[in-house]
Amino acid sequence: MDLGIAGKWALVCGASKGLGYGCALSLAREGVNLVINARTPGPLAEAAQRIGDESGVTVVAVACDITTQSGRDEALSACPQVDILVTNAGGPPPGDFRKFTRDDWIRALDANMLAPIELIKATVDPMIERRFGRIVNVTSGAVKAPMHILGLSNGARSGLTGFVAGLARTTVSHNVTINNLLPGFHDTDRVRSVIGAQAKAQGISYEDAIRQRIATIPAGRIGDPWEFGQACAFLCSAQAGWITGQNLLIDGGAYPGTF
Ligand code: NAP
Repeated sequence: MDLGIAGKWALVCGASKGLGYGCALSLAREGVNLVINARTPGPLAEAAQRIGDESGVTVVAVACDITTQSGRDEALSACPQVDILVTNAGGPPPGDFRKFTRDDWIRALDANMLAPIELIKATVDPMIERRFGRIVNVTSGAVKAPMHILGLSNGARSGLTGFVAGLARTTVSHNVTINNLLPGFHDTDRVRSVIGAQAKAQGISYEDAIRQRIATIPAGRIGDPWEFGQACAFLCSAQAGWITGQNLLIDGGAYPGTF
């Protein structure tokens, strides 16, 4: 299927690896020019080179912290126009909520709620004027199925989800959609380090810890960031103009509920 977005410009945040990289690569394969962002310059430059070489689109790398206003300004100013926005950043650490300080909460809110909202604020009105815009926020399966040790993530991402639910209904008549993608358990550096820590805590091997996790996924395997990126590209397609305010789980069936 031709997604009808060749030649458009996307800002994809947190895209040197993992799910953000998957989203950037899938958009590039559709002919979308990119500004990609992450904090560490080396891996980001390599990612930009790889994506550009493979797809032939223009890929601009902006190394900055997207949770800061100066970082967002830098990333936004590198993009001739933002037709597609993919918000993403690292997730907050797990822990017992009794030990979280106010500063921990502020950091989580900055990364996983306020940064996406600020990026949307900066881009949505020009999208409305041009009568095309696609915004995808990378959130988490934990929004629908919270885990108690991920209190910072559950709280901050739920705030973003509630905000998007309201805004997404006001932009869709202008062909500007806003949706959230909720990853389950994907094969990324972040997940590998979380599983490594769990294996150590339980005194089991990394392979056994992975097997335990996979046993909870009806698909019987861990997700590929490429699959995640493909779902993102479809939500950004010309054809997806009637999909807005949705929370789409990409989790191999792990979420057990009807709704
Ligand atoms: P990852 O493999 O660690 O990749 C994260 C990417 O974001 C990297 O490119 C990282 O590069 C960049 N990044 C992190 N913080 C940033 C910041 N402040 N500003 C700019 N770039 C930043 O993580 P992932 O697994 O793809 O996860 C992406 C998001 O999905 C996270 O919020 C995570 O909590 C959530 N999630 C993932 C899964 C999963 O299965 N993978 C499941 C549920 C939720 P730098 O470190 O160089 O900045």
